[in-house]
Amino acid sequence: MTLAIRAAGADSRYWDAALETQSRPDWQRLKLDALQRHLRHAYHGSPHYRAGFDAAGVHPDQLETLDDLRRFPFIDKQTLRERQLAVPPFGDVCAVPERDIVYISASSGSTGVPTASPFTAADFDEWIDFEVRLFWSSGLRPEDRYCHSLNFSLFVGGPCVLGAQRLGALCIHAGTVPSERLLAIARQFQATAIWTTPSYAWYLGETAVKEGIDLRRDLAIRRIFVAGEPGGSIPETRERIENLWGASVYDYYGLSDIFGACAGMCEEKHGLHWAEDHILVEVLDAENGEPVAEGERGELVLTTLRKSARPMIRFRTGDIVSFTSEPCACGRTSQRLLGVHGRLDDMLIIKGVNLFPSDVEAIARKETACTGEYRLIVERENHLDRLTVEIERVPTFAGSDEDLAHHFARQLKSITGVSAAVRVLAADALPRATHKAKRVEDRRSGVWA
Ligand SMILES: [Zn+2]
Repeated sequence: MTLAIRAAGADSRYWDAALETQSRPDWQRLKLDALQRHLRHAYHGSPHYRAGFDAAGVHPDQLETLDDLRRFPFIDKQTLRERQLAVPPFGDVCAVPERDIVYISASSGSTGVPTASPFTAADFDEWIDFEVRLFWSSGLRPEDRYCHSLNFSLFVGGPCVLGAQRLGALCIHAGTVPSERLLAIARQFQATAIWTTPSYAWYLGETAVKEGIDLRRDLAIRRIFVAGEPGGSIPETRERIENLWGASVYDYYGLSDIFGACAGMCEEKHGLHWAEDHILVEVLDAENGEPVAEGERGELVLTTLRKSARPMIRFRTGDIVSFTSEPCACGRTSQRLLGVHGRLDDMLIIKGVNLFPSDVEAIARKETACTGEYRLIVERENHLDRLTVEIERVPTFAGSDEDLAHHFARQLKSITGVSAAVRVLAADALPRATHKAKRVEDRRSGVWA
């Protein structure tokens, strides 16, 4: 077990200043060196990768630059699932003997057979080590009391609490308990930080207010870590949660098939810093597979650099993101995820225009006459798609619903190029999410998504 010891007199802004502020060429060298070793490990340890590389006519020894990785084949969720069924229980994408595996997480299985993600002892230890670094960059300190309200049941978000614990914070392993209980725990122990989804952070805050709890006076929460939904990377969504709680919100990004969190927001909150010594990031045009320019939207493709139990080489995440390699004002030099705009599967095409629910969310959260809740309904009429956006007015809104609907529709059209009918509802008319929100009803196929 690694001990979380920082050098005496170290710069308090960073957990590991030498690593986190190194030059971009140093990052590239570090990644190239790790990638060469990791590809060889995958090739020699995993029958799946060996067969795939051979079929594509590529060999790890041919990798001379990071760009050479583009000659290697992709892997995706469906392949992981198939290989797991073909070679149970973990599949031949694994590159170590089963006796070396000490931990598995598994996806929820909401879109098919759950896939298991195995870790060796070293994989697990190194993962928790970089969670420490991410937490530190978000301002968590040993003086904090961190309340972890994520599920531990095979969920890769569960062990992230060990990062906060290794950092030295007092960790309250609350797990998933009813909202009233969670609020009581946070209140009793005066937790200063908590982790949840953006939807649940909003729901929990509203629940507290309804119960007569003063979020600023009765609770001590000053930092809210969020993950699992695109909302966390939308500034308007974060600001709403921050205003409700009087706390600072930090977005995190993770994947059940890789790590609980592999990128997190620093105090500047302009993008999420990747744990770039463990993850190699590509952002590609989803149609032609070519890299997109920095700041442009593309599909996120991830390659692990050290995770030996099951290396992930060019894993297509299906998430549409943008990124930057510009140095951050915080002094860290790692690449940043600028925004998760949605899943490729979530993208709606309305009369030929691409639209992500998160685009609508940004408008709904910014509009002060609205509660910020919304729902999209997509229908087909005479072979044409028709979008209806439902929003809620705040109870104090004194204007007309018609004017608000027109105003919202104009905003939507000018920002996204999509025309939609807008329906204004009373506050609390739309269902609230207690975990991940489902805000799209696609009625085009006759089945509600
Ligand atoms: Zn930063």
